[in-house]
Amino acid sequence: MDDAFLAQLRCPIDPQRDATLTRDEQLLVCSRCRVTFPVKQGLPVLVPTEAELPAGTREVSQLPCQRAMNRRKNRN
Ligand SMILES: [Zn+2]
Repeated sequence: MDDAFLAQLRCPIDPQRDATLTRDEQLLVCSRCRVTFPVKQGLPVLVPTEAELPAGTREVSQLPCQRAMNRRKNRN
C-alpha cells in the first residue's frame, strides 16, 4: 500500500466521505473520528463492521462525524 493509494481512501463511516485515513502499523486510522480499520494481507478492510471505535466510544452514533450528520438532519 503506497502513499498515493492511501491518499485515495476515505473513512466508510464518515457521512460526508471526505475523512482521510493514515497508516498506523497494521491499522488505518480515520483522521476525523479516530476509528481504526484493519489491514489484512496488505489490503485495508474499510467496512463499518470491521471498524474499531476509539477508547471511550461505545457506538458509532457517538462519533463526532455522526453527531454532525444528526444535527443537519434535525434542521431539515
Ligand atoms: Zn471516520
